[in-house]
Amino acid sequence: MKTINLCGCTRQDFERVMAEFGEKPFRARQLYKWVYKNRVFDFRTMSDLRKDLRQRLQEKYHIALPHIVARQKSADGTEKFLLEFEDKNVAEAVLIADDASGRLTLCLSSQSGCPLGCTFCATGYLGFKRNLTVGEIVGQPLVIRDLYGDEAFDNVVFMGMGEPLLNYDAVMTAIDIMTDSLGLMIGARKITISTAGVTPGIKKLAASGSKVNLALSLNAPDDVRRRTIMPIAGKYPLAGLLAAVRTWTEVRKRRVTFEYILFADFNDGEQDALTLAALVRGIPCKINLLAYNPIEGGVGRRPTDEEVDRFAQRLYPRAPAVTVRKSRGRDIDAACGQLAGKKGYL
Ligand code: SF4
Repeated sequence: MKTINLCGCTRQDFERVMAEFGEKPFRARQLYKWVYKNRVFDFRTMSDLRKDLRQRLQEKYHIALPHIVARQKSADGTEKFLLEFEDKNVAEAVLIADDASGRLTLCLSSQSGCPLGCTFCATGYLGFKRNLTVGEIVGQPLVIRDLYGDEAFDNVVFMGMGEPLLNYDAVMTAIDIMTDSLGLMIGARKITISTAGVTPGIKKLAASGSKVNLALSLNAPDDVRRRTIMPIAGKYPLAGLLAAVRTWTEVRKRRVTFEYILFADFNDGEQDALTLAALVRGIPCKINLLAYNPIEGGVGRRPTDEEVDRFAQRLYPRAPAVTVRKSRGRDIDAACGQLAGKKGYL
């Protein structure tokens, strides 16, 4: 008989499973802790559950994580994982090592492929396969911790494949499990949702009370140019988008991060820096600048380090906090915008 995968189940789901067997809710908490905190996925070794209960669980359910079908390590320590799910769809997760801070960030996917088609992004060219389930999202940090232990990463960012706010419910439920003290116990402040600019999703996040951080891929200082590289900008223009972001900063009492990819001779001029500074004025924020990582079939030139520094100097102190982010994992196509789910690496 085909068994059901319990990975991604919430505490309440586990309570229902246990109620089915006539068991009390504390049994659900035990099972939940085994799976998410202790990373034990074989019912037979869950020593504080009665033997007959383990047997009944075994007959009806299983716990399966995404399967690592390929992994690749960059010269800078960044590691990319190609993960396959039970229906053979794939997504990528990237473990990014930050030289300066020594911290490790796990970049997660929320969808297999992406429907938004940003012109600078390999995932966009891949097209959209489907939303990931809660289990497939929470399965990513579980797989990485299973490899490298509880200290495998310090921060989590939804910046891999897909637009997290278009898979809102699954992402937020996965975050609930990730932040739960009986779950993966990752502080909400260490988790960032990065969006291409889905205004209703940002409003929903602001209203949710969630303590996660927010990053917005801005990438151009006006609607016209934003639309040429990010089709979603046609649906959600900057005025409404930034109003939603401002509301989020007020409700959360935190800075938002604006990501700004610099494309040479497109959005990196002196006037662009001034327009960008004016655009974000009054919004508590920091701006991360990142040089474009060229992709196969993409257009545009990567600016030189000097051009990026010049832009940063024009921007600061007109904008309150400006950071130039180094691309990590470019040699293995793991840098921002390069995730294409190619199976050709081992
Ligand atoms: S940048 Fe993000 S939103 Fe845009 S196509 Fe790539 S994955 Fe999708």
